[in-house]
Amino acid sequence: MHLELVVRTEQREQFINITPQLNDLLKKSEVKDGCCTVFVSHTTAAVTVNEDADPDVMGDMLRFLQNMVPLKGDYRHREGNSDAHIKAALLGCSLHLIVKGGSLDLGTWQGVFLAEFDGPRTRTVKLWMD
Ligand code: ZN
Repeated sequence: MHLELVVRTEQREQFINITPQLNDLLKKSEVKDGCCTVFVSHTTAAVTVNEDADPDVMGDMLRFLQNMVPLKGDYRHREGNSDAHIKAALLGCSLHLIVKGGSLDLGTWQGVFLAEFDGPRTRTVKLWMD
């Protein structure tokens, strides 16, 4: 089963917790238990699992990435967003997650985040149940 989530981002760089929306999509599907692939079909966005309890964690993540991969650098890409491509590649475009009882089987402190590195844009997150 294939499902899609459309997310409108609001800043150039931000992490958005998409766990509630993913669980809403899963509730509409008939799959109760299994695995699901979460895939973001963009080259300047990523998906990642991390802590959703303390927002400072994702703030720290973003600052770390900004320090490691600055906006301006020794880049050749004409579009001028090489930092976004590099940050997206570092985090990755897909996750393989467990579905149990019709929702994501995450740890107590875990959430699924869409990472935006070249917004604001409209992003599509695809779910494939297998
Ligand atoms: Zn580009």
